[in-house]
Amino acid sequence: MAEAERTLVVIEDDGNIADLLDLYLREAGFRVLQASHGERGLELIEQHRPALVLLDIGLPDIDGFEVCRRVRTTSNVPVLFLTARDGEIDRIIGLELGADDYVTKPFSPREVVARVKAILRRGQPDPRDARDVVHIGDDHTVDITRREARCRDQVVPLATKEFELLAFFARNQGIALSRQQLLDGVWGADWYGDDRTVDVHVRQLRKKLGDDLPLATVWGIGYRLG
Ligand code: CA
Repeated sequence: MAEAERTLVVIEDDGNIADLLDLYLREAGFRVLQASHGERGLELIEQHRPALVLLDIGLPDIDGFEVCRRVRTTSNVPVLFLTARDGEIDRIIGLELGADDYVTKPFSPREVVARVKAILRRGQPDPRDARDVVHIGDDHTVDITRREARCRDQVVPLATKEFELLAFFARNQGIALSRQQLLDGVWGADWYGDDRTVDVHVRQLRKKLGDDLPLATVWGIGYRLG
């Protein structure tokens, strides 16, 4: 597991950028696998189950958006987009591809390393989780370590915050949680947002995980799972 956590896949067709990232990321202690094409990148992700993917958008075969979309059908691995244009940022956000972050070119490789580390820290499993896999009702499981949600054994692709919200519910099954508790637990106490953020994400979880998900609305309080 330790090694799998430290492997990164870089999908970038510009050899200079790829080599620069490779140099800095290796220096920071990561194992780096490079792909210059989207399809090859998908193969590497499938074979090596990296801790994180750095993903360029303009690629010679399928573009980075398509790569991300396909990755998300089987995995919740964090994706850091490497973007060249403002228009791409709009698409990353607008399409809700489940990207975890993006950096714009030209970027400083040190900044990329810092972002990678920050995302991996964020994704560290909570040490309080005695169990890696939490069952929710008969049909759903949450694998905290692998960051995978499943419905009847099928992986359900979730955006980062959706997964974290589900994991938080899973750790507190049977307990009615207020929207404020959910905001503090998932988004952090220093996050500026309101209750609607929680409602929107709960709606997404229900939509993606199906009607059988035992996620109840507790009137006047918030939500309860299980
Ligand atoms: Ca490119």
